[in-house]
Amino acid sequence: MSRAVTIHAYGGPDVLTVEELEVGRPGPGQVRIAQKAIGINYIDVYQRTGLYKLPQLPAVLGLEGAGEVVEAGSGVGDLKVGDRVAYAGCPGAYSEERLAPADRMVKLPDAISYETGAAMMLQGMTVRYLLRQTYPVSSGTVMLFHAAAGGVGSIACQWARALGATMIGTVSSDEKAALARSNGCTHVINTKTEDFVARVAEITGGQGCDVVYDSVGKDTYQGSLQCLKPRGLWVSFGNASGPVPPFDLTLLRGSLFATRPSLFAYTSSRQELLDNAAELFDLVARGQISIAVNHRYALVEAAAAHRDLEARKTTGSIVLVP
Ligand code: NDP
Repeated sequence: MSRAVTIHAYGGPDVLTVEELEVGRPGPGQVRIAQKAIGINYIDVYQRTGLYKLPQLPAVLGLEGAGEVVEAGSGVGDLKVGDRVAYAGCPGAYSEERLAPADRMVKLPDAISYETGAAMMLQGMTVRYLLRQTYPVSSGTVMLFHAAAGGVGSIACQWARALGATMIGTVSSDEKAALARSNGCTHVINTKTEDFVARVAEITGGQGCDVVYDSVGKDTYQGSLQCLKPRGLWVSFGNASGPVPPFDLTLLRGSLFATRPSLFAYTSSRQELLDNAAELFDLVARGQISIAVNHRYALVEAAAAHRDLEARKTTGSIVLVP
């Protein structure tokens, strides 16, 4: 038996329930993992509230973790008992032990701890595809990135700095602004006291940005579109304030482009997953990106972690400790 955090109905943090569940033996192509750390991501909130529907209920929440392989099923060639692994995008992560598909596991280098692995797989691989694939960010790029002190945002600041880009970040407090700046964000806008559209115009001398990364959604999409240069790209990759409503395509005037990407579409093949993780691991192992695990909760306190994340009280990454 293993402790897990499940939901039986969609709703607020109170629907998170701690239960003892049978894990079972791994089937063909599966491994059983003793988890050492579990990553919390905003998508867990969307799945808990039902904004993103799960295939069935009840379900164990969570998509990301790191741990040790304790048993391998048949046909699992490249993983063995004792291997250290990390993953993102495998439902059922909020648990002490779990079964998982071997072909979605990535071996964790010795230089990277379980906690760092669990904190960075989903957020770090997201930043990799956003900055390297969705738009090829380089030293000439001027980009706007919302929620620059959050989990994804803290990694984005450091990755943009490594690429030499000019990053304008938004945050909601002075403390978060200082954090984003210390992570390499070139210009920081506090949205509680400043109008981000006006500030972006000022910072860019009226030119606008090449690309806007918008994970806030409902509250920011209109302003985000106004911050782009002609032919600029709006990357709508999240909905922390609520989903973007249907809108008139004339909002894309100026020949703007729009995309709604997901990590899963960028890492669906094994090779894409390994290429993405390898580049992230390299930057982390070389110290160019440091993963800030600013909040730790016991697995059984998952509801408190969700409350803090939704109340915008957290910065950097959050892990659950089984
Ligand atoms: P964060 O740590 O960034 O937390 C969300 C942040 O959004 C808050 O801290 C807050 O920062 C900001 N925010 C703005 N408005 C609101 C609001 N009304 N309610 C709550 N938060 C708000 O979370 P993650 O790093 O886990 O994820 C960041 C975003 O990236 C999420 O939207 C997530 O869904 C998305 N994402 C998308 C992926 C994809 O492939 N499409 C993959 C991974 C993440 P502040 O207070 O400074 O404004």
